[in-house]
Amino acid sequence: MRVGHGFDVHAFGPGDGLMLCGIKVPFDRAFVAHSDGDVALHALTDALLGAAGLGDIGRHFPDTDEAWRGADSRVLLRTVVNMLHERALTVNNADLTIVAQAPKLAPFIDRMCECVQADLALAPGYVNVKATTSEQLGFTGRGEGVAAFAVITLSDR
Ligand code: MG
Repeated sequence: MRVGHGFDVHAFGPGDGLMLCGIKVPFDRAFVAHSDGDVALHALTDALLGAAGLGDIGRHFPDTDEAWRGADSRVLLRTVVNMLHERALTVNNADLTIVAQAPKLAPFIDRMCECVQADLALAPGYVNVKATTSEQLGFTGRGEGVAAFAVITLSDR
């Protein structure tokens, strides 16, 4: 059994929605990012790479590479899932926590879980997405951006 942990942050900038776990959440701002800024999928992708001993997302998808400008983070995630399968590594489960003062994410959580389940090829109940505020403390509490944490386990086949 291997455990992987990931963490990511993106700041808000001008725009009209937030990509979180592959779902577009309506909002009066967007993420400032080289890709689509899906902070939750970035944390998840880093957790997968970490458990596999394969470095981090910046090493595989550098933000200096024009190929990844505006990239769909689900494509990055699925690329890493394929890398794991090539190494005979199986994802067992994923647990994600999104820290955002706003918007309210509860109405979107089920769809987020379904999206991540599909990309990880996992059954319902093996992906969990949680949302919390930081009680108006720190950069998330001031509404400057969103943070996300991911923990996953992998098995060597
Ligand atoms: Mg990121």
